[in-house]
Parts: sequence; C-alpha cells; structure tokens
Amino acid sequence: MPPIPYRPPAGGERITRREGTLIVPDHPIIPFIEGDGTGPDIWRASVRVLDAAVAQAYGGRRRIAWMEVLAGEKAFREMGTWLPDETVEAFRSYLVGIKGPLTTPVGEGFRSLNVELRKVLDLYVCLRPVRYFRGVPSPVREPYKIDVVIFRENTEDIYAGIEFEEGTPEMERFRNLLRENFPADYAKIRFPASAGMGLKPISREGSERLIRAAIVYALGHKRRSITLVHKGNIMKFTEGAFRNWGYALAEREFRERTYTWAEWNRTKESRGEAVANAEQAAALAQGRLLIKDAIADVTFQQLLTRPDEFDVIAAANLNGDYLSDAVAAQVGGIGIAPGGNINYETGHAVFEATHGTAPKYANLDQVNPGSLILSGQMMLRYLGWDEAADLVIAGMERAIAARTVTYDFARLMRGAHEVKCSQFGDEIIRHMTGAKKAAAPPRAPARRAARAATPKTTRSKSVRPKKRTRR
Ligand code: NAP
Repeated sequence: MPPIPYRPPAGGERITRREGTLIVPDHPIIPFIEGDGTGPDIWRASVRVLDAAVAQAYGGRRRIAWMEVLAGEKAFREMGTWLPDETVEAFRSYLVGIKGPLTTPVGEGFRSLNVELRKVLDLYVCLRPVRYFRGVPSPVREPYKIDVVIFRENTEDIYAGIEFEEGTPEMERFRNLLRENFPADYAKIRFPASAGMGLKPISREGSERLIRAAIVYALGHKRRSITLVHKGNIMKFTEGAFRNWGYALAEREFRERTYTWAEWNRTKESRGEAVANAEQAAALAQGRLLIKDAIADVTFQQLLTRPDEFDVIAAANLNGDYLSDAVAAQVGGIGIAPGGNINYETGHAVFEATHGTAPKYANLDQVNPGSLILSGQMMLRYLGWDEAADLVIAGMERAIAARTVTYDFARLMRGAHEVKCSQFGDEIIRHMTGAKKAAAPPRAPARRAARAATPKTTRSKSVRPKKRTRR
C-alpha cells in the first residue's frame, strides 16, 4: 500500500525552537491522532472546545491549524502499518502534537504504540497534573486537598522491555550468563529453573534530566516542594540511586534555590536536629524549594491520608505509572486525567488522553472527553497560550459545578444531568463564554482550600524527614 503523504494545512506555520525557547506562530500547525475506539468521539468534542477557547481568548488573531496524522487501526486500514514513519516524522518535524487513545496491536514488534512514540521521540517526561474540580465524585473525604504534578520518567526502568520468557532458549542463555558471571546473585534466585526474568535499567542521565525538569517546573510555578519517590530501601542501585542523584543534582545545579533533605541529614549528623530544623526553616522562609523523598509504598498511603503534603512528585517509570492513576482515581478517575509526554531539551511534546480506547463505548458519543480536553489545555499552556488554557479550565469547572456531566460522573453524583460526550463539550464552551475575566489560575482554588483546611502544625511537621523502616 503506498504511503499517504500528509499535507500541511493552508495558512499554518511550523512551531520552531530557538535558544531553548519555543517560537509559536499565531497559526501553528499541530498534528493530531484522533485515536481508536472512543478516540474519534472524544477528539470531535475536544477540538471544538480547544478552538473555541483560542478564538475567545485571542479574538480570532490566533488559530490552530490542525493536521491529521494516522496511527493505530485507521493507519493500519489506510496505510498498512500501525505507526507509519510519516506520522513519527510529523511529530518530529512539527514539535508539538496531541493524540487520542490507541489500540495496542497484538503480535507486533513493539509493545504499545504509545510507548513506541515516546521512545522514538525520546519524550522522557510524562507530565501528569492531578487536581480537583469542585463537584466531581470522589471516594475520599477531602479531594480538594489534591493538587499534585507528577513527573514520571518515561524511557527507562522496566519499560525498557528487556525480559526473558521462562522455558525459552533466550532465558537459558541469560540464566547461564548469570550463573557463570554472577554466581552469588544467581544463588539468590529462589526457583531459577522456572523463572522468567526482566531488567530494570535506571541511569544517572535519565534520572537527572527528569529531576532537573521537575525542579525547573517547580521553581517556575512557585511550587513548595518536590518529593523524589522511590523504593531505594530494597533496590539501592536503581531506585535508591534515583534519589541520591536527585539530591546531588539539586545541590549542584540549584544550590541557591533549593534545600534538600540530604542537607538536613548532614546538618543533623554534625550539629544536631534542632540546628537542622532551624536551617531548613530559614531556607524555606527565603522561598527555597524543598527537595525531599519518600518510599513508594508510604507515598501511596500518605497521598490518601495527607495529600496536601505532596506538591510536585518526581518518580521513576513504574512508580510514576502507578502513582498517576492512583491519585487521579481520587479526583474523578481516568475520564478526566490528562497527560503530556515531553522532551524539554528538543521541545518535542505529545499530549494525550491517559485512558485507553474503551472499545465497548466506541461511536456511542457517550464517554467523558475530559482527559483529552485537559490534555489539550496542557498543550495550550505549553505553547504559552495561558489565556486560552484558563478558559478551558473555567468552562470545565463551571460545567461540572452545574452537574451537566457524562455517564461516568452522573452514575456517582446526586442530581446530575447526564449528557453525551459531544454535549459535555458544548457545555464547556457555553460556560466559557464570558468567563475570560473570571478564568483564575487553575490551581488557586484547590490550593487555597487546602491551605485553609490544613492545621499549621501538620504543615510544618511535613517538611521533616520521617524515620524509615526497611520493608
Ligand atoms: P480503557 O480503554 O481505559 O477502558 C477501561 C474502562 O475505563 C472503561 O470500560 C470505562 O469504564 C473507563 N473509561 C475509559 N475511558 C473513559 C472515558 N473517556 N470516560 C469514562 N470512562 C472511561 O482500558 P482497556 O479496556 O483496558 O483498554 C482498551 C484498549 O486501549 C487496549 O487496546 C489497550 O491497550 C488500549 N490502551 C491505550 C492507551 C493509550 O492509548 N494511551 C492507554 C491504555 C490502554 P466503565 O466501563 O466502568 O464505564
């Protein structure tokens, strides 16, 4: 089947990058993949919301020149391949794009189209902001306290995909390699003959660039702290190293603007806990960013019991994956959880709905388009179009507060008026109108509410390292 060349839309211009800054024209060409299953439904609703926000914010001066590119089932039907080179090339060449969910093809050379795209474009940050929208059904008592931004490493860890299947010749060779070269480690394997095995590479470069991006973000957005989440009590040279490299990086590259728990520990060892506490309090009073760490399992617990102690989180791939969905579940679940995959060095970014294709709802115009709409909102902010992004947030806040919601929220809300996927988009646009002045920065209400509801003692206690037990 001959490849279909993508034709750039008339009047659109390419986003470029100069000296580390994105140069965004008024009519940027943005490639999009509508996605499989429910993808077309949520894309249709989302694109109308994003266009309406841009039109209202800039009075027609700015407009996105959308360019459809194919992946997934549509690409397979029309071009004979699940992820055409032309699609990857479009994302590479136009820098910023957006996508709906894609079916994972069974039996192809790659595990998932999403993972493949992240890999070829080296999109090393998976950015997942999680906040509460008033009125969203939640399984926790104080969901308004949740306002965290998760930086999940996107290219390493078990997602490197190095695994050997039990009973295969590859596994046999790997087992022999271990037995011959690392006999002491081989001896630790409980059932070596029937084990499958995987590798978990976590590098200094990979960890540092992720943590650096999180620190730059936190400083730029005036966040209070970064928590490095890890399982270093068990995996010292991968997870533990992630934490150590993070502390070292903060002290080396951001010495004047951060204070780390590693510093706190050193001062405590040399001059006692009271001096360490005073040093930390003074640093935070100067507006420095606190860099702390937490063991992954404790983090899951505390995100439920004390969510306002978490602000920005930096985590390796698997921990970040689990954490993102677990926190999102507290504030509405995957129907409204947005995400972006970004390489801050090259500027490449692909924003995406974080849920799957939900095939049983395909073409029913029923599912929640919120995840893709909010991902589009993140994209607008990445372009520097904050006014349009604020309008999307304002429209969504008001639509949910008015209880006009899709089935997933309606089944959990009292007095809700259930609307279709497309109608939810209409509601957001309707509530956007006239909201320009009212469009507040998205995290302010949740943050204010959280502060008001947090006793001072809990807040100050939260900045001290806790005793850790090995588990
Ligand atoms: P899924 O598509 O995420 O759907 C699981 C359930 O989540 C749905 O049945 C639905 O729950 C709920 N849900 C999903 N999207 C929703 C939305 N927009 N609004 C409201 N509820 C929503 O997961 P899956 O069924 O395991 O995966 C299906 C396919 O998607 C697979 O091929 C998988 O590989 C792929 N996938 C793609 C991505 C991606 O492209 N980023 C991510 C994950 C999975 P209820 O039935 O309770 O209403």
